[in-house]
Amino acid sequence: MTSGPTATGPAPTRFILDRYREQLPVSAATPRLTLGEGGTPLVRLPRLEREAGVGALYVKLESMNPTGSFKDRGMVLTVAKAAEEGARAVICASTGNTSASAAAYAVLHGLRAYVVVPAGRVAMGKLAQSIVYGAEIVLVDGSFDDALRIVRELADRHSVALVNSVNPHRIEGQKTAAFEIVDELGDAPELLCIPVGNAGNITAYWRGFVEYYRFERAARLPRMWGFQAAGAAPLVAGHPVEHPETVATAIRIGNPASWQGATEARDASGGAIRAVTDAEILDAYRRLAREGVFCEPASAACVAGLLKHAREADLRDASVVCVITGSGLKDPDTALGVEAVRHETAARVEAVEQALGWG
Ligand SMILES: *Cc1c(COP(=O)(O)O)cnc(C)c1O
Repeated sequence: MTSGPTATGPAPTRFILDRYREQLPVSAATPRLTLGEGGTPLVRLPRLEREAGVGALYVKLESMNPTGSFKDRGMVLTVAKAAEEGARAVICASTGNTSASAAAYAVLHGLRAYVVVPAGRVAMGKLAQSIVYGAEIVLVDGSFDDALRIVRELADRHSVALVNSVNPHRIEGQKTAAFEIVDELGDAPELLCIPVGNAGNITAYWRGFVEYYRFERAARLPRMWGFQAAGAAPLVAGHPVEHPETVATAIRIGNPASWQGATEARDASGGAIRAVTDAEILDAYRRLAREGVFCEPASAACVAGLLKHAREADLRDASVVCVITGSGLKDPDTALGVEAVRHETAARVEAVEQALGWG
């Protein structure tokens, strides 16, 4: 950190490495390549806001990033720094989105991407992304936590840059989402709700809010509410979970790498990290879809948690931001499991009329 924040003009660039370069480890030697990450919409949802009983409810649509998740914010910086330092290849463990993002930014910079993922546990859209971007994929018979342990050791043994969130550039890039929220609202919200898996993102948002507060770009700090899936809630239990299980595969993690960052964000902000069940997650997933927001199950966890706990916290006048971390298109299997009205008919007007009950 060398100086205060950059003033944002009336038409801020979407390119976060330029827009927030004063707050990031970006130098003249850092390659400036972009896929258009950041600058994501902050959308108010009045119906859901009334249902939750909060003053103002916004969703930060990180699903609108180039590969469909917030991972792009950290990856644009991390892969640029790896290229700057002369890396020829990157490696990561992933529940899907990190690998999709790593593969995209690696190909942008002309690097090889190696991704290690838990076999049978990655949503189909995410696997498709890693395939088309040209990553070399290793499916391991184990969990994300196993995959992370393996890639950490591989990065020690071989000349390949590790781009998981144990790489500090990831958190640095991801904190720009907090800057954007403050820049847009004019201050920090009173409450931020966020899903927690490996816990890099809650760590990053807290860092972003604290930096803006120190630079007097924000007059207050938000409370941080993190939500884990009940079957993968080590931070709630207070110890690692050996066999994490949840429909929300992006947060199916038993031993978060940023454990300390998450508990610091919780404690310093007067916040909480709680668990929501898969049923509550899928309920919020369908509820969000009825507002026009199609997210992946992990993202819905934070809205599930807000709906569950808002009343007890008395947020009637509070502004709340929920982070929609990834796009629903990544996980078509979950979407196709939602009950829908479907008809099969002959391709004739009368047949369709009859199926619809209009005939
Ligand atoms: C990675 C991810 C998360 C979890 O973020 P962490 O930084 O691992 O806590 C949540 N939702 C989606 C869609 C993700 O890709």
